[in-house]
Amino acid sequence: MSPTPNRIVIVTAPSGAGKTSITRHLLHQIPALGFSVSATTRQPRGKEVDGRDYHFIGTDEFRNRIREGAFLEWEMVYEGKYYGTLMSEIEEIWLEDRIPLLDIDVKGALRVMGDARVRTLSLFIQPPSLDELERRLRSRGTDSEDSIRDRLAKAEYEMSHRDRFDRIVINDQLDKACTEAESMVRAFLDS
Ligand code: 5GP
Repeated sequence: MSPTPNRIVIVTAPSGAGKTSITRHLLHQIPALGFSVSATTRQPRGKEVDGRDYHFIGTDEFRNRIREGAFLEWEMVYEGKYYGTLMSEIEEIWLEDRIPLLDIDVKGALRVMGDARVRTLSLFIQPPSLDELERRLRSRGTDSEDSIRDRLAKAEYEMSHRDRFDRIVINDQLDKACTEAESMVRAFLDS
């Protein structure tokens, strides 16, 4: 398999749907994938490390990068908080002969899918239900009540767009969802 430098794998889902666990599984099992570290203006949470989980930057710097055209896509994912995929990050991964794996929100994913410069495989991770999603967000214990409400409202909107993605992975059992996602990505890499 020799990856051509225009392929991108996107994993998207409502926050709390298990996207991070599935992303980690894919990166661990498929060395040809490289994680695209997004830029964001939100504060680091828990054990997050700058440059590994996100590039944590200030709002002015983020806006400058937008003006420079540095992003493949960017969104204000939550009120006042920007998130974006840097083109430089993608190009670096392609240069290593690997395929970027993007863990981004639904709007950002749709934007990348509509970009003629890239060929994408998009996976939508669906939580079993909105009630279950709420339970997961609460048990994670890292989000404030306001942030949980924000995330649930956004999840409803995101679920309504799921049919626009190449594949839907229902995450009612994490192991099964990981295996399913892995075989979808392997098929794309072999195509
Ligand atoms: P969190 O704050 O929980 O890390 O991420 C919130 C949401 O932003 C998640 O759905 C995550 O996938 C999304 N996200 C992370 N990076 C990016 C990005 O570069 N672009 C877009 N559009 N969304 C992102």
